Amino acid sequence: MTQIAPSAPPPVFPLEKDFNAGVGVVANQFIHRQMVHAYLLTGARGLGKRTLARTLASALFCTSENKPCGRCEACHRVMEGNEPDVLTLFADDGKQIGVDRVRELIQKTSQHAFGDGWRVVLIEPVEKMTPQAQNALLKSLEEPLARVVFLLMTHELTATLGTIASRCVRVKLSPWPDERLRDALLQAGHPPQRVAEVLARSAGNIGQALELLRDGDDGDAWAFVNAALSISSDAEAVGLSTRLKEGREAADAYLAALEQAVYQALLARTGRLDAEALKAYPALWRAAAERAPVRDLNGLLTAVLDARRLRAGQVNWQSNIDHLMMRLLEEHTKWRQSLA
Ligand SMILES: [Zn+2]
Repeated sequence: MTQIAPSAPPPVFPLEKDFNAGVGVVANQFIHRQMVHAYLLTGARGLGKRTLARTLASALFCTSENKPCGRCEACHRVMEGNEPDVLTLFADDGKQIGVDRVRELIQKTSQHAFGDGWRVVLIEPVEKMTPQAQNALLKSLEEPLARVVFLLMTHELTATLGTIASRCVRVKLSPWPDERLRDALLQAGHPPQRVAEVLARSAGNIGQALELLRDGDDGDAWAFVNAALSISSDAEAVGLSTRLKEGREAADAYLAALEQAVYQALLARTGRLDAEALKAYPALWRAAAERAPVRDLNGLLTAVLDARRLRAGQVNWQSNIDHLMMRLLEEHTKWRQSLA
């Protein structure tokens, strides 16, 4: 299970220019209190938009010399969502953000600030705002109040957001380089072995990495799948077979993960899934997902499904698993010749 050190500082978004030049520029504006009145943070879900927004806000309120320190009381308050001068509107319940909530929020920005006058407004995601809510927001963007900064976030920059987007400085978040993602996860107290396991599967998305880390022994299942998709000798096939036989309890989770992996390859092969999703697969399987005969992948999927069914019936478990692993070896050997 994942254990986070109790003394760990709250997670902050890396603000250095070598991580993301755009973020670095905006961070400097917050540190030196030279912000424009509205920013739009864009990028896929899980890249850290909300953490970045809070990190920027904490740069504004931080009381240390090196802002944001992530350790002072002000930083903690902002990062934990307890700073009264940081107003938030998050559509976490999946529901739309209506005009009333926006009006109420804007009303608050005109009231007396608790601190030295600055207020930061976080809204995520902007695309969840109803058209009326967007119009209400647009009004405040057009007639900005002094010392109020909007940090808007969107998972998907759609055409309907054009008028709002055009009034904001845009900051685009990209997938994290593996090394930075590793550092961030280790720093958050996750065990190195688990971090190594999820890294390959996260495609630079810190949200996804954290989700995988929360999923407990999912990493073991992935290690099994990775080994199964890499079988290249009888010895390896027998080794994996033995592992499944010995760990019967975990076997179903392993086979389910294998089924999912083979199915994804089939989806990619038939154009229903972006090949990018198979980034962490062994090279031979990435090639297979591009060029192997569909019937090969389909045959393997059936073999995995049969193995799962037989496992449920407890019938011929050993020969069943041997058969599946040998089947994988057979296809791999064939692919190595045909797809090279
Ligand atoms: Zn601080």
